[in-house]
Amino acid sequence: MLLNFGQPLPLLRHTDVPPRVLENYILTGYRFPNYSLRDCLLSAIRPTNETGNFWTHFLPLFIFLYYFMEVFGWEGAPHGASPFFYPLWNYFIGVFCLLMASSMAHLLNSMSLVVREVCFFVDYGTISSYTVGSSLAYYYYIHPRAGIKDSGGQNGSQMDMKIEPARSLKSFYVIPDFGVLFETLYIPTACVVAILCVLSCCNTRHRWRRHRYVIRTFVFLFPFLISSTPVFYRLLTRSPYSTTSSSFEISTSTAGFFYRHCLWLLVSAVFNISKFPERLSPGSFDIWGHSHQWFHCCTFLSILDELHMIKTEVRAILLSQTLLLPPAILSRLPGPTIASTYGVMLLLQTTIVSIIVCFSWHANSIYGPERDQLAKEHSKKPLKCH
Ligand SMILES: [Zn+2]
Repeated sequence: MLLNFGQPLPLLRHTDVPPRVLENYILTGYRFPNYSLRDCLLSAIRPTNETGNFWTHFLPLFIFLYYFMEVFGWEGAPHGASPFFYPLWNYFIGVFCLLMASSMAHLLNSMSLVVREVCFFVDYGTISSYTVGSSLAYYYYIHPRAGIKDSGGQNGSQMDMKIEPARSLKSFYVIPDFGVLFETLYIPTACVVAILCVLSCCNTRHRWRRHRYVIRTFVFLFPFLISSTPVFYRLLTRSPYSTTSSSFEISTSTAGFFYRHCLWLLVSAVFNISKFPERLSPGSFDIWGHSHQWFHCCTFLSILDELHMIKTEVRAILLSQTLLLPPAILSRLPGPTIASTYGVMLLLQTTIVSIIVCFSWHANSIYGPERDQLAKEHSKKPLKCH
């Protein structure tokens, strides 16, 4: 089906599209699930019920990029390619993939019923890799020992190595055993939970359909609880910085950013589950203002506050002069390496891609015949425009 540029898109009512593509309380503005790639791309600038969903995750990409790049211009910041920034780049990869995959999934999902399924599998996969990207950044920048001067003095950093003799490494943890547990299990747990989340969310497209929004929302709140462990710890214990230092002063804003990050997440969950405002007036928010667009806006605001929080902690470490995270073997807190950051991310992405391939193959066997049937029927009758 080719559309001529300049002609109105044939938008359909909820009664004219397969039940599979229906959204609760959205009555008009549907695209037929058999668009060409060109038609899908053009629909970014035509008002359909997916246009707002696309822009509310595509535009934020540039806002995120603007705030992200600021870090590399800070005084005292190492080169952008230095190991110190590996976790931050992994966080960037996670957020970039999330926003890009989400916006593209909304734009391209009307190519066919099978493509629609694949788009959303990819969307769920990138949400999981985003949470692991966050965990890597938290581990290296908000770790209970992040920013604390290394009392071992063996890390080979070129920076000033003033030693704070009164502190033993164990004193950084209120519960010493927690330290071992945290450093051993935090990243592996974040990865396992992320994979379980992808599996659960992909399953909601075939099973548990009635409660799919509730399941998807809670499935992504759980990894949030796991990955936020270092932040909870930081908020419940003392700051790693001396109270007279500028690092201490800077890191006091971490709590505020985190609380706002949580608030936006909560509000986004409420929109996603409640289907407000379209629930109150079905048909009135079909193109602009329905819950999924507010959900996107709130998730982006939560990411933005998370970025500000991570940047605050990066700045505090940079101001503490003695970086805890040099890429040296003998460092007390081993610094980020390619294997411990990009390697983890690559392993995770490979696993997620394998899961997506399996679910896509399954979706093709379910929706392939229906897709072919729709294409056949559609070529025989003209579309009704609304
Ligand atoms: Zn979305």
